[in-house]
Amino acid sequence: MPRVLIVGASLGGLRAAEALRDAGFHGAISSVGAEAHPPYNRPPLSKDVLLGNATSDGVLAELAFPRKARLGEIDWRLGMSVAAVDLAQGEARLADGSRIHFDALIVATGLRPRRLQLTGATADRFVLRTLPDALALRARLVPGARIAIIGGGFIGCEVAASARRRGCATTVIEPLIVPMQRALGQEFGAAMQALHEAAGIRFRTGRQVTGFEVDVSDRLHAVRLDDDSLVEADLAVEAVGSQPNTEWLAGNGFDLDDGILCDHRMAAIGHDRVAAVGDVARFPCLLFDDVPRRVEHWSIPGLTARRAAGHVARQLGVAVPDAPFAPLPTFWSDQLGLRIQCAGLPGLADRVGLLSGSLGPDSMRRDGAVMGYWRKDRQVGVAAIGVAPQRFINFQADLVRALQNCSL
Ligand SMILES: Cc1cc2nc3c(=O)[nH]c(=O)nc-3n(C[C@H](O)[C@H](O)[C@H](O)COP(=O)(O)OP(=O)(O)OC[C@H]3O[C@@H](n4cnc5c(N)ncnc54)[C@H](O)[C@@H]3O)c2cc1C
Repeated sequence: MPRVLIVGASLGGLRAAEALRDAGFHGAISSVGAEAHPPYNRPPLSKDVLLGNATSDGVLAELAFPRKARLGEIDWRLGMSVAAVDLAQGEARLADGSRIHFDALIVATGLRPRRLQLTGATADRFVLRTLPDALALRARLVPGARIAIIGGGFIGCEVAASARRRGCATTVIEPLIVPMQRALGQEFGAAMQALHEAAGIRFRTGRQVTGFEVDVSDRLHAVRLDDDSLVEADLAVEAVGSQPNTEWLAGNGFDLDDGILCDHRMAAIGHDRVAAVGDVARFPCLLFDDVPRRVEHWSIPGLTARRAAGHVARQLGVAVPDAPFAPLPTFWSDQLGLRIQCAGLPGLADRVGLLSGSLGPDSMRRDGAVMGYWRKDRQVGVAAIGVAPQRFINFQADLVRALQNCSL
């Protein structure tokens, strides 16, 4: 009986197992995941989990994905990482030295937070990717605590909003001109900064962190910036991006430059029996162009898992019909009681413009606002704040039509 090994037991790994069964694969599936917990949903970690008081078990009861009956028998190995694979032998070596033989491999190992290459303040520096990360950070979000959030991307801004709601004195330090600039552009980012400032969150933009100032016990008292100014802080959150978990794939001829390079079937280049899904996969989004990119949004693991599972099942002799694959990246973010929704790849744009509403803090709260993003006069993205999902779907449909009707 053929065996598919899925490495990484989070959203992408779980969806890949489900999709293999949906594709008619009845062989063996082994799922190895480094986290001890069953697959759970990450987005609430920076929102509801930081704002709530639930215990680890309580949070898991809320966030664990339901295990669907159609999964059937799965050989779960949780709390265990794969240390290395040998594709020629079809064998994976686990951290405890045991081995799993496989006929096909699905890579679903996602990302881990990038760390600042600075020393000091070890006990007061936090990252946010996992449930234990969230619970450790939440324990320090007490009223009056001074928190420096390094990085004003989505996770940094969501943590800032949650920390402020818990009564912390919150400062976001961001090297670009405005927060969330790369994803949403300067106009939308500036409007978001104003919204955060109105809630009492301070910003130091255009600045990098150069050091952590500590006392004799190595406890943090300030973060030093590149203009030599200090931001007083009891704790710091490093929200400076992520790096793909691909070291375990080394030595097999994969392109691991930024995640694992895949083709439009989600097959690893040069290895038809290896596919990748979710945040770790670098693949071409054909709705835009044929440039491979990683897309770190919740919608992508599910979409790529279906594609990858179909491909892998076909490689193992299951007759699975092929279909065109041109996924539209979408994501959302909840900050300060407002929902941001985004579709497409606004980061590609060379021009932005309002499609509806205006970007003042009051009008965003009252009527919402929708921004369009164009590259060479072709729409490549749409982002909205304070707009009902049913209304946003219409803007998203316009975007898909625009993308289908002309190429970059
Ligand atoms: C705090 C936070 C908030 C977010 N909020 C949003 C949001 O609001 N909207 C949105 O669209 N997206 C959001 N995201 C992104 C979304 O959660 C991710 O896109 C999604 O989790 C990716 O799933 P994945 O399965 O590809 O990777 P991951 O969820 O990273 O899972 C990879 C798994 O592989 C395991 N692993 C790694 N290496 C090994 C190994 N060698 N052996 C075995 N296992 C291994 C890891 O431990 C992990 O469990 C958020 C992410 C975070 C962290």
